[in-house]
This record gives sequence, C-alpha cells and structure tokens, in this order.
Amino acid sequence: MPDLKGMNTWLIVVGIGLTCLAACALHCGRGKEDPAGDVKRSARNDPTACIDGEAGLGYIRQIISFGPRHAGTPGLERTRAYIVQKLREFGLEPRRDTFVALTPHPELSRVEMANIIVDIDGPGTKKVLVGGHFDGKIIPGVTFKGANDGGSSTALLLELARCLTAHPPPCPVRLVFFDGEEALVHWNDSDSLYGSKHFAGELRAKGEVEQIAAAVIVDMVGDARLQLVRDSRSTPWVYNALKDKAVELGQGQVFAGPVATMEDDHIPLLSIGIPTALLIDFHFGPGWRSNAYWHTGQDTVDKLSPASLQAVGQILLATLPRLAQGSP
Ligand SMILES: [Zn+2]
Repeated sequence: MPDLKGMNTWLIVVGIGLTCLAACALHCGRGKEDPAGDVKRSARNDPTACIDGEAGLGYIRQIISFGPRHAGTPGLERTRAYIVQKLREFGLEPRRDTFVALTPHPELSRVEMANIIVDIDGPGTKKVLVGGHFDGKIIPGVTFKGANDGGSSTALLLELARCLTAHPPPCPVRLVFFDGEEALVHWNDSDSLYGSKHFAGELRAKGEVEQIAAAVIVDMVGDARLQLVRDSRSTPWVYNALKDKAVELGQGQVFAGPVATMEDDHIPLLSIGIPTALLIDFHFGPGWRSNAYWHTGQDTVDKLSPASLQAVGQILLATLPRLAQGSP
C-alpha cells in the first residue's frame, strides 16, 4: 500500500498542473516546435510538466554521435557510459548489471551486455518500473541510427530521471535501461529481449517481483506523428490508467494507434507476473499507417518531435500515483 499522504500531495500538484497543460495543449500544435517555453515556465510548480522534449532530442543526437550501437560495438559501450554519466549528473547512483548473452550471431555467440538500473526513492513500499531499450539494430549494409528505435526510449528515461530528482516522486520508481532488445540475426523467442529476460530472471531469483506494483515499457515514442498502439498483451488496467490520464491531460490523441500484438521488453516482465503495459508507436513512416522508417537508415532525428517525448513523459509522471496503487 503506498503512502497516501505523499500521493495526495502529488495529486493536488497534478491537479493544479492540469490547467497549465490544458492551456498549453490549446496553442501548442503536436508535432510543431514547441511548447518547451511554456513547459519550462510551468515546470516550477508542476512536476509532470518538467519533461523537456528538446533536451530529449539532445540526448538522442549525442547517442547517435557514438556510432552504431548494436551488440559488441564501441558505440554501445559509449552509450552505456553516457547513460551512467547523465544519471550521476542528476545526483543518482545507477548500477550496471553485466551478463553474457548467448546469441546465434556467428561473431557474437557469447557477447557481454549490461542493463543500467537506477532507483529513485519515494513514499510507500511498492515500486513503479519504467523501462526501455538503448541498443541498436544490426542491419547489414545500413548505417542504423535508431533515433526513434532505442534513442527515444533512452531519452525519455533520462528525462524522467532528471524530473524525478527535481520533483521527488509519489512512490519509489525504478528506471531500467535495457540492453539487447534487438535480435542479432532474426527475431524469435531466443534471439531477442536479452536484457529484459535477464532482468526478469534476476528479479524472480531474488524474490523481488512482489516489490513492483506495475511497469511501463516505452519504445519508439518520439515520432512526430505519435500514435501509440493498444497492445493486446499489455495488462489492461495499466494501459487504461495511462490512456485515461492522457485524455484527462488533453493528450488523448497520442493513443490513436490500432490494436496490435507486440513483442517487446514487456513480455519477460509479464511472464513473471508484473502488471505491465507497452507504449509503442509502430507506425513510424511517411503515411498515417506506414511503418516504412522502422529498422531502416531513415530512423533519424528529423522524424521526431520534442512534443511527442513531452506528451509521453507527462502522461507517465501523472499516472505514477495510480500505478503505485497496483491492481484494482
Ligand atoms: Zn528495433
């Protein structure tokens, strides 16, 4: 049971912040540059308005500058080091959980991977987990930048970390930057989700599953035309809590995607019994239902919008009190 006193304080602050957000939504077109000025002004009092989409795009540009970041690359290690460095700058104490992944890739059959985990204290005993992957995809013959795929999730988690240290959360929060989400050869049950499978196995082995009230996985949340799908495997009450809060915030349009059945880092968490929702936009392309930029050289920063990162971040922060309460 979470600390209700702390949660009530947070809810009051969220309530006050809704007015600012609603005003912003009226004159800040989604996909345009940018409500950051208004967001920054209101952020002083409203913790959910703290997310800075432009800062998020800055993290993504930095990560891309490290070069390809699939398993075994120097770019992936530089990305891990960058995440750790940023978290330390925010005053947090991240830890690396290093493990060896066995993969079907002929040159990477035993490859070292590492999740990065950070806990942010808050009232109550049950944690809310927010996760997303940072690794890139191996695509022969293509320089894959993964601005949206792997970049946006990393950027959003970093912004959440910054905001949750500036405005202490209503519950304990664990952020997990997952390594090895992508398949190294061809996506199947054994060649995918290396980091989240390892994480879920460790959590179960330590008997810590019950400490997590709920989890949210984010992936590909930077698309300028954001349309999050309704993933059929996600836990309904977690997904509904996020969507209902989005509507309340005037951001309901980001949940415009269709029903889909996704495989992502939420699957290992669901398999150990953690109520989990996946927030993913799986229509990343030039048309309304096109996914033509996904896993191509066209997954670049110019396709993204700071407003999309801000919307997802605000929704997540505002839903924390509900998620901390656990199953209805
Ligand atoms: Zn991918």
